[in-house]
Amino acid sequence: MLRIRRIYDNVLPVNKSTLDQVQEILRSRFSAVPEEEIIAIGEKLRNPFKQRFRTILFVAESIRGKVRGFAMLLHEPDIRFAYLDWIASAKDRSGAGIGAALYDRIRQEAMGLKVKGVFFECLPDDAVDCPDPEERRQNSARLRFYERYGARPIVATGYESPVKPADTCMPHLVYDDLGTGQPLKKSYAQKVVRAVLERKYADYCPPDYVDRVVKSFKDDPVRLRPFRYVKPEAVVAVVESRSAEQIALIVNDRHDIHHVHERGYVESPVRVRSILDAVMPSGLFTPIKPRPFPDKHLHAVHDADFVGYLKRACAEVPAEKSLYPYIFPIRNKTRPPKEPSVLSGYYCIDTFTPISANAYPAARRSVDCALTAAREILDGRRIAYALIRPPGHHAERRSFGGFCYFNNNAIAAQYLCAHGKVAILDVDYHHGNGGQDIFYRRSDVLTVSIHGHPKFAYPYFCGFEEECGEGQGEGFNLNIPLGEAVDGAKYRKALDRALRRIEEFRPQFLVVGLGLDPAKGDPTGTWSLTVKDFTANGRLIGALGLPLVIIQEGGYRTKTLGKNALAFFRGLVEGVGQWADSRHAPNHRLGGVVFRHEVVPEDGERVRRLVDVTGFFHPEEVAVAGELVEERLKGGEASGYHFIMAEHYGRLAGYACFGPIPCTDASYDLYWIAVHPDFQGRGLGRRLLAEAERRIKAAGGRRIYVDTSQRVQYASTRAFYESRGYRLETVLKDFYAVGDGKAIYCKSLV
Ligand SMILES: [Zn+2]
Repeated sequence: MLRIRRIYDNVLPVNKSTLDQVQEILRSRFSAVPEEEIIAIGEKLRNPFKQRFRTILFVAESIRGKVRGFAMLLHEPDIRFAYLDWIASAKDRSGAGIGAALYDRIRQEAMGLKVKGVFFECLPDDAVDCPDPEERRQNSARLRFYERYGARPIVATGYESPVKPADTCMPHLVYDDLGTGQPLKKSYAQKVVRAVLERKYADYCPPDYVDRVVKSFKDDPVRLRPFRYVKPEAVVAVVESRSAEQIALIVNDRHDIHHVHERGYVESPVRVRSILDAVMPSGLFTPIKPRPFPDKHLHAVHDADFVGYLKRACAEVPAEKSLYPYIFPIRNKTRPPKEPSVLSGYYCIDTFTPISANAYPAARRSVDCALTAAREILDGRRIAYALIRPPGHHAERRSFGGFCYFNNNAIAAQYLCAHGKVAILDVDYHHGNGGQDIFYRRSDVLTVSIHGHPKFAYPYFCGFEEECGEGQGEGFNLNIPLGEAVDGAKYRKALDRALRRIEEFRPQFLVVGLGLDPAKGDPTGTWSLTVKDFTANGRLIGALGLPLVIIQEGGYRTKTLGKNALAFFRGLVEGVGQWADSRHAPNHRLGGVVFRHEVVPEDGERVRRLVDVTGFFHPEEVAVAGELVEERLKGGEASGYHFIMAEHYGRLAGYACFGPIPCTDASYDLYWIAVHPDFQGRGLGRRLLAEAERRIKAAGGRRIYVDTSQRVQYASTRAFYESRGYRLETVLKDFYAVGDGKAIYCKSLV
């Protein structure tokens, strides 16, 4: 079986190996491609803004991760076209339907991106242009393949004209209208051709050649070659719009054996069914069967003694019987009690989570599901959802309770942390005491929980703000307890704080303990989140751009469980999409940016990091950038440092810092403007500068000064200020170093 997967980056080990295989296919199939170009693919994925196209890579791979083929699409959002840069299958795999599967996916993507069409090059199939019969046969097969989609070469232009006299066998430019039947307008085609030749073939095509080719487009609309291989009626139908990011869905297929009938036990099988009924028809999910994992993963976060106890105790309880602890003899660990119901209190935190024959096998299967979800992420999927019960977040290293037996999300996090730092975000109404307990002394797993304050909400004994980790783990547990009445807006404020901390931690993976009990009307909670709030929360979390393992925790109002879960996942997918687009679209004005003027304690570290990743500044300068934030925090307005923070869905996208120059009447210094590389080239610097000028003017400032270096690498910075009306006032020669002067620019605001 083959699956098509989009590769976002080359950070995950699995993606590194995928990319190696892609590069190997390129080498073996296209011997003429220079090695630098092959190597550059990784860089293009990592730093897409540097190219003037977004690079989108799809691979067709076996379940075991063997790459059978790949396609690389370049997206131009301004002119609105896509260019198919590569499509190739592994040498031993041609003709196995891989090309068709990849091309279908490319077309779906292109439609989803709302481009007018896909362009690509194809070698000629005429005897005159391609005298070699074998090559001609291959070229004909390719052009026949594309003709089935209605895609044909553009004719009667100079696109095929040789660049150098020795050039032969020049490729056609092929156009696929994506089944719209819209004529190809001349002016649009000219823009496309210019963009392709200038950006992709700049090294090969001199400017006058590009001009000549562009001018050679005379027909309007541009003509395509008549069908040569297939009948126009036989063209395959229009593809459906791009399917959004698919979420792997792993359902605990043995959850319903755990059915506690007593004491109004709300953690019941209908919970899973009501979520499943709502999410499945959405088309967002791909079901994946849970895989068995060995017990060592349980032992990695739980005491062996505790795991052994649960297994044994559940096996010993007669079927249909439940054992509830009523005594908690935890003080004397050396003398464990013998009587079964007394012994259960030795490992339990409350009186309502029973030991029963099916509790262990059901809980054990939940663990497999959580691990299967984590495995999916390591295999390169973006989002995986373990829809499981019993839940797990109240299970501590050596105790169960709160309907939970094994800590599924901690086990998933522990499994992932062999591949990078992990953050756990617990959004259940109840504190994630289990994760806190398990990772309390560790700094490689950050635990964050937003929950009802323990003074009134379960588990009552922890979840307080001052619990922030111990030893190595100090500062790596964040509790955000909230009051009894919390609506969507209040919740989002807390979520924003949680996400900022997670961002600062820079994890490789995010595990979300998804409790749906913050919802309005939940019998175990007091908050009032609505469907819309769950969408908004999902969007914020998705926009972090992290690989996501979502583990089902609580949520007991079965009437709304499904709706809220679906809303959350819709938001999540939207957020991931926003992140992917914001990260890649060059020259696209950035939506969703908000400016804020007040400074918060986290800003020091965030500013340092931002300044650092721009790669423009020395370590001392990076330190100074952070210190200015701290000065401001300490001194307020009087510090003389004013800030504009540009945030994009909770991320710091850029910032500016300015202030009045002491002992002057109305002169201001602009100390910093920095934009995160993910957001560069899209007008954010200009907007920050305009906002700074607006505020300086409002404060009575009349002149703004900016210093910059004279070094070559600052040429674009100087050009930026010059284009915004800043005049070079003077140069202090050799100011920074010999040969590196300080250029002082000034703009008058009056
Ligand atoms: Zn809960």
